[in-house]
Amino acid sequence: MRKIFDFHGGIHPPENKHQSTQGGIESIALPKELIIPLNQHVGAAADPVVETGQHVLKGQLIAEAHGFVSANIHAPTSGHIRAIELRTANHASGMAVLSIVLEPDGEDRWIELESCDQPETLDAQAIIAKVRAAGLAGMGGAGFPTSVKLGGKDIQTLILNAAECEPYITADDILLRHYAAEVLAGAQLLARVFPRLESILIGIEDNKPEAIASLEHALAAQPNTGNTLAIEIVVVPTKYPSGGEKQLIQLLTGKEVPSGKIPAAIGIVMQNVATARAAWRAVRYGEPLISRITTVVGKALKKQGNIEVLIGTPIAHVLSERGFRETESERVVVGGPMMGWAIEDTLAPVVKATNCLLLPSKEELPAAPPEQACIRCGLCAEACPAELLPQQLYWYARAEDQEKLRAYNIFDCIECGACSYVCPSSIPLVQYYRAAKGTIRQAEKDKRKSDQARLRFEARQERIAKAEAEKEAKRLERKKAAEEAKRKLAEKQAAEKSASAYSATESAKDSTKDSAKKDAGEPDMKAIKSEMVKEALAAAAAKKSAQQDDSSEAEKELKRLQRGLSSAESRLERARATLLKNQEEGADATRLDTLAARVKEAEQKVNDARKKLEAAQ
Ligand code: SF4
Ligand code: SF4
Repeated sequence: MRKIFDFHGGIHPPENKHQSTQGGIESIALPKELIIPLNQHVGAAADPVVETGQHVLKGQLIAEAHGFVSANIHAPTSGHIRAIELRTANHASGMAVLSIVLEPDGEDRWIELESCDQPETLDAQAIIAKVRAAGLAGMGGAGFPTSVKLGGKDIQTLILNAAECEPYITADDILLRHYAAEVLAGAQLLARVFPRLESILIGIEDNKPEAIASLEHALAAQPNTGNTLAIEIVVVPTKYPSGGEKQLIQLLTGKEVPSGKIPAAIGIVMQNVATARAAWRAVRYGEPLISRITTVVGKALKKQGNIEVLIGTPIAHVLSERGFRETESERVVVGGPMMGWAIEDTLAPVVKATNCLLLPSKEELPAAPPEQACIRCGLCAEACPAELLPQQLYWYARAEDQEKLRAYNIFDCIECGACSYVCPSSIPLVQYYRAAKGTIRQAEKDKRKSDQARLRFEARQERIAKAEAEKEAKRLERKKAAEEAKRKLAEKQAAEKSASAYSATESAKDSTKDSAKKDAGEPDMKAIKSEMVKEALAAAAAKKSAQQDDSSEAEKELKRLQRGLSSAESRLERARATLLKNQEEGADATRLDTLAARVKEAEQKVNDARKKLEAAQ
């Protein structure tokens, strides 16, 4: 029997789960249009690969992942692309995001899918590629691209998160009641991408007896092939927020994820149960992620329960299908009462991470009373599962003291709302933290942009300096060559002049002596001297040619060094561009460090190449 650990703090709000677990998984009619945002996941928005007016089939790729942390997007049904334009996002800010608007043709016709009868024969890379192709992103609410989390080489423990601790939400509970076998198959499939995996755990709260029974039944029915790891179902006591990633890890393993790190840092990876099932369907049947189970709950609805809803369905359509009584509710909440957010525009769509739509009546979840002054009671710190000091964070958020907020680890706050829930002064603490995090992130983004501009400026300055240096080097080269040529010409002329003067004098002398010498049988000195002059001229010509050879060798060497410098500079530019791109995409610190080291190395090579060239010049 596995030991269950505990985490600090936590609360026990009313669960309100029974309202949505009475029925099965229902469906609703197709909406008139689907609004599919291009950035419904964490990371870079996908790039559209369709055009307005184009007909698409269900499951067809309509936007392709852009960059490493991104996810593909597929058509949730067949129809025509009506627009690619800004539409209201499913976000507290209510801002508009680029979205593909699809008008269903009513035929719901699938594209041909690439199924795999023997997923157990696939290697890790093939599994990851299929998961990425299917556009999977964490379905527990985080929306992190699934394939990115499958890259860890040192993962020893895979945890499936079935805790679903937030009140009202039952999407995972109902999924497990119906599809436990597919969730287990997904777990085994995902396990195969981690070469050093030692255990697979499914963490679930004890307030879901039907889901636990369903899992146990499916586990018992699983064929024991002997080459798969055993899956352990670990039932934990109900306490909010036991479904938080770090909290569930602590409950199941007793290990704490260090501040600012991800679970992979301690050899653990966590996936939501719905994501595991989606991974199984993606690999086994080739199905992309185009729909999900969403809890639609609250007393302002005629019909509460869980529905299978197409990604992109406007929330207004879901509400009208479930008999929403607008006059009875003050807000439409996406997510649960603790971590969800109210939206103003119900034309915002359901996205891959939408696990709940909450429509409480005014009595059910009355609006919070007005905020009072903090009385320093310390209840917030007692409740905080991340062991933070919410009261201090509140003060620093109000003072906009970013340095202090960082020092007090604001980014470890999981925005669970436990502190706000217990605060007797009704201070909406989480709202302060969210706003503060947003401001800090914006400041970081601005800094990255200015760094980027600085790097661009420096690169430009370097390019200009390099061009100037090359120009100057060529000018000096030409000057040197001209001076050398001039010198050699002068030498040659002087040699020719002296040879011809000598030849003339000797010729005059010789002509008077020649006849006498001939008579006396002496050698012909004129002919001999003429030969000597010819030889001297030939030697001078040979020397000149040798000097020319030397000079062309030097030229060749200079050119080679210039080429070396140019390519070192190109490599440096590429390294800088990659670093900037990754900074913009919010890559993790390890990757950024590696890329920064590459930039440094490239800079060193440029300096070396430049020194060599200067020395040669
Ligand atoms: S619970 Fe509220 S009143 Fe009490 S210390 Fe925290 S912020 Fe202040
Ligand atoms: S919202 Fe943040 S500060 Fe408040 S209890 Fe949760 S983790 Fe702690």
